[in-house]
Formats: sequence, C-alpha cells, structure tokens
Amino acid sequence: MNLNVDGARLLRDLKELSTIGNVGKGGSRLALSEEDMAARRWLRDRMEQAGLDASIDGIGNVFGYTPGAERYLLIGSHTDTVPMGGWLDGALGVMTGLEIARAFMAAGAPGPVGIGVVSFSDEEGTIVSLLGSRVFGGSLTWDEVAQAKGADGRTLAEARAAAGLADAEIARIDPQRHAGYIEIHIEQGPVLESEGRAVGIVTEIVGIRRARATFHGRADHAGTTPMAARSDAAQAMFAFATAFRDFVQTHGGPNTVFNLGGAKIAPGAFNVVPERAELLVEYRSPSLEALDRIEAAMPELAQVAAAQARATGSVVLAGGEPSAAMAPSMIGHLTRAAQRLQLSSRTMPSGAGHDAMSMASQIPAGMLFVPSIGGRSHTPEEDTAPDDIVAGLRVMAEATGTILEEFAAGK
Ligand SMILES: [Zn+2]
Repeated sequence: MNLNVDGARLLRDLKELSTIGNVGKGGSRLALSEEDMAARRWLRDRMEQAGLDASIDGIGNVFGYTPGAERYLLIGSHTDTVPMGGWLDGALGVMTGLEIARAFMAAGAPGPVGIGVVSFSDEEGTIVSLLGSRVFGGSLTWDEVAQAKGADGRTLAEARAAAGLADAEIARIDPQRHAGYIEIHIEQGPVLESEGRAVGIVTEIVGIRRARATFHGRADHAGTTPMAARSDAAQAMFAFATAFRDFVQTHGGPNTVFNLGGAKIAPGAFNVVPERAELLVEYRSPSLEALDRIEAAMPELAQVAAAQARATGSVVLAGGEPSAAMAPSMIGHLTRAAQRLQLSSRTMPSGAGHDAMSMASQIPAGMLFVPSIGGRSHTPEEDTAPDDIVAGLRVMAEATGTILEEFAAGK
C-alpha cells in the first residue's frame, strides 16, 4: 500500500501547533492547562477537517479514526509539554500520525484496517506521567490517580473538571479493535546526529528505578571536634556517591545510566558537622538483571560508606517503571521501511519513557527516533532538521503500509 504523505504539510502543521502556548520560542502546554486544551481542540478540529471521527475523552486523550474500519493501527504520541519545552517533543508523533491518516483518506481508505491518530494526555507528568496512555492501556485506573496532585496543588480530578472533561467518558484500549501502535519521536540524545544516521529503531524502552539514600550523623562544632571523633552524615553520603558510581560502572552492564540528581545536607552551615544527608538516586537500564543487581547492592554500599564516617546509612526505594520491549514485528516493519527508502538506520534502546511503553504490554508497539540537533530537548532550543523530519515521516508511512497489509491478512 502506497501512502502519499506530504512533508511540507507536516512541517506547516507542526509550526502552527507550536504557536499554541508559544512553544516555538519557549513556552508551555502543561497537561490540562488552558494552552494544552486549546491545542487538543485545535487537533480535534484538524482531524475533523481531514475526515476523521474525532473526539476528546474524559482524561484529555484526543482520538481521530479513519471512518469505516473495525480494526485500527494507532499512530500517535502527546501534545502536552514540559515547562518551557520545545516544539517537537510529542507533537512530531501526533502530527505525523495525522499526515499519514490524511494520505490514507486520499488513497480512498483502502483495506479493512484503518488508522487511529492519538494524542495522549500528560505524557510529561505535570500531574501523573504517561497518564493518558497508562489509563487507556489499563495499567492505571482513574480511581488510582484521581486524587494525585500536580505542582500547583490541584488534584487531577480538579484539573479534569476545570478542563471541562468531568462528564466525558474515558477511553480504554480494546485489543480486538486496536491492533497495534507506532510512534515517531525525537531522539532527545546525540547518538543519531553523531553517527550521521537518519533514523533509529527502538528495541526497548529502559526500565527506571529510584531510591533515597539517607545518612545520619551527629551535629557538632566543626572547629573543635577532632576529625577522628566526628559522625559526619555528609562524608558518608559523598563516600556512598563514589561507591555507587564505581559499582554501576563495574557491574551495571551496557546501556545502564544513573543520575544522582539531588542532595540535601542538614543543618547546612559552614561550621556545623552535618547531622543528616539525603541523596536522590535514579538509574535506568534495558536489563532487568542489571536493575536488580544495583538495587540489591545499594544497602551494603550505604552501610559501608556510613561506617567510614562513623554515621549510619539506609536506602529506601522510591518507585520506577518497568522496561518495555518493542514488538519484533514492528521493529521488522520499521527496519525494512528504512532499507527500502535507502535511509541509514540503527537499532537502539530508548533512555527516556514514552507513551509506547504503556501500549507495549497490550498490543504490538514500535518506535522510531529522528536526530535531535545537539541532542537537545525539554528546552526551546530543541530542534530537528526539516529533512530529517520528512525522512521520519516517510519511514513511518512506508511501515504503515506494510503493517496494514499484515493486519488485513489476519496476522
Ligand atoms: Zn515526548
């Protein structure tokens, strides 16, 4: 099936969407805010103009289905942003889906399997990360998240009501109806650009674990207490940080990354030996074994580091996300599409979470990356060359053609 997509039209759509919340020059469409809902209504109107059956569900997810089919390939991502985000994160996946759906309509909506374009709600976690895709996919229920609070103190139930969605139904995935999911996204890292490749085909989205390492010492005068007599919580924390880094580098396996993203020292004065110290630890890996190995090692690393400083240390786990493998069938369709178009590609894990994670446990899911200039994202500087955006669109359209043929053949 040949889908005749229009790269210039996609670029125009992306530019127009970027003016809502003025994201192009630095701005925001925080989930369920006025700007976010304005973008979602704009998208619904665009879908209707394209002849799709469009709706916004009770949590802010926007759907647009090509009419006349009983089964669908979903193509999408999200249109919400982080504060002061860029113009492509999420938007690229949604508007690419719409452009492919338009080409499908222009071809006379051929075959029994249609296209469903989706923009999931609150992917970025203003209130609950991956909210829309997780509720749609069934890994979260509304009751579990209704009282979750965002940074502004509003509960999700309040934000939903303020967005005018309280009476709308919340859509749920139906694997009989939703046959698969594909998503194109900016890489948000430097790998594709540095290797000069047009696209990356995601093999899995890494698992994430978080923990708080806490150390207790004793507050004393920092001038009069001999070094050998101190119980120093901060020295314990720094020793732990070094030992943790060494452990992950030695035993973490390939593609494992970590971040010591926050630290608190109390009471926090020049002249007081620290009584309490806390370190925020996050690590990500495609390998469940590597995540388990690091998790199992942390308590002893903390105790040994604390003992060196005559303090005590402990580690409390603080949640995470399981890794999600992309479907081999979808990896195959995307890989062959890039080959047929003679575009340079590679397979790679995704170090960031995406809506495709929430779909992968329910239906076959695939993801495609395009290069991020300078690896930048979550900033107004975020950008991708127009040629790379159009190349990504063409790979997605080419893969959509063969996926629809496979689904229509009943596989
Ligand atoms: Zn995103």
